[in-house]
Amino acid sequence: MSTIVVQKFGGTSVGSVERIQHVAGRVIKEVENGNKVVVVVSAMGKTTDELLTLANAINPHPSKRDMDMLLTTGEQITISLLSMALQMRGHEAVSLTGWQAGIRTEPIHGNARITNIETDLLQSYLDSGKIVIVAGFQGITASNEITTLGRGGSDTTAVALAAALQAEKCDIYTDVTGVFTTDPRYVKDARKLAAIAYDEMLELANLGAGVLHPRAVEFAKNYGVQLVVRSSMEDVEGTIIEEEVSMEKNLVVRGIAFEDQITRITVCGLPNELHTLSTIFTTLANHKLNVDIIIQTSMDKDTTNISFSVKTVDVSETIEVLDQYQDRLGFTSIEQESGLAKVSIVGSGMVSNPGVAAEMFQVLATEGIRVKMVSTSEIKVSTVVDVNEMVHAVEALHVAFKLGEESVERVMS
Ligand code: ADP
Ligand code: ASP
Ligand code: MG
Repeated sequence: MSTIVVQKFGGTSVGSVERIQHVAGRVIKEVENGNKVVVVVSAMGKTTDELLTLANAINPHPSKRDMDMLLTTGEQITISLLSMALQMRGHEAVSLTGWQAGIRTEPIHGNARITNIETDLLQSYLDSGKIVIVAGFQGITASNEITTLGRGGSDTTAVALAAALQAEKCDIYTDVTGVFTTDPRYVKDARKLAAIAYDEMLELANLGAGVLHPRAVEFAKNYGVQLVVRSSMEDVEGTIIEEEVSMEKNLVVRGIAFEDQITRITVCGLPNELHTLSTIFTTLANHKLNVDIIIQTSMDKDTTNISFSVKTVDVSETIEVLDQYQDRLGFTSIEQESGLAKVSIVGSGMVSNPGVAAEMFQVLATEGIRVKMVSTSEIKVSTVVDVNEMVHAVEALHVAFKLGEESVERVMS
């Protein structure tokens, strides 16, 4: 019996007629290996960004429902073109939108989670020998509303389909040759990793490494999907993402992630009471506003300041909500500092190595980079710095933690 393989191709990989033809060739190769193939594609090139610009030119505050209606058209262009390319080469292919493919989501526009996948139709196409091409990044709610899965969400479509169809593997084809120690577009010494553990990849993805959508990694971990990130252009080995990966000798850090567009908000003069923290963050959570690093500073015995970092896009809504509840929260003023970035080191080896955070701070201090906020977990340390220092910080940490060095021996755990 032939096995099912899911292949996903991102925007750059399907960005032109030539590239779609090239992708068709990759798909056919997998079919010729004797596999049943499901292909998930993104919108061509920068189409999603262009659609966003178009919407904003019409209405700077478009409804989220219409935005999803608009953005989902991008992926539909690609599925039909790829299907045509495969048919030109004599292969039977069928293109399916997310909803035709049975991808059900929660009723949230712009950032919906997949709740389940009804695979009957998809399975019947596969059984009849067709190559199935599914539009990434989209689904449908129980009440037939079209939703999107958040930027970069086609990865999640692919992994969720692989889990639902019990595929043998899920290959994420992209414009780099794998997962690197940090973004190779910013750091020239970044090194491709042969393998990385689900938990480390999840941290990196959540902390800004755009190479994989965080929910795709979550799905892969939860359903044990074998995930490989590899190049759509070059035929070279990619990076495997799996449960257990031994740390390389002498290394405690596996990778560095970074993200700009961070703002620090400080709520000043809050009453220094037992419930202050819970009231403020429950209020924000009720409005689905995400906050990241939180710092509380007691000013005197009666008052306290609470600072937290948010994504810059969420600043105005966050401040609006806080203002709305000023009487109940009892603060005197709100301050904000924009132009910040988050730089994080990630590695499962940190659990058993005290002093990694200290080393990070020392490296940054030696480079004259001021750290404005810090947060840690068992496998990561994040710092907030000025955005102008972001790449400098990443480069310095990459050198200090020896991430660019090829020659480190691998040790088995
Ligand atoms: P696709 O359109 O194929 O989904 P993305 O642009 O979403 O591609 O993701 C690939 C990009 O991720 C790369 O071009 C690279 O700039 C960026 N990236 C960020 N961090 C990393 C990393 N650690 N390893 C590899 N690529 C990374
Ligand atoms: N086209 C969508 C985006 O640009 C989804 C994706 O590419 O994964 O975010
Ligand atoms: Mg992507």
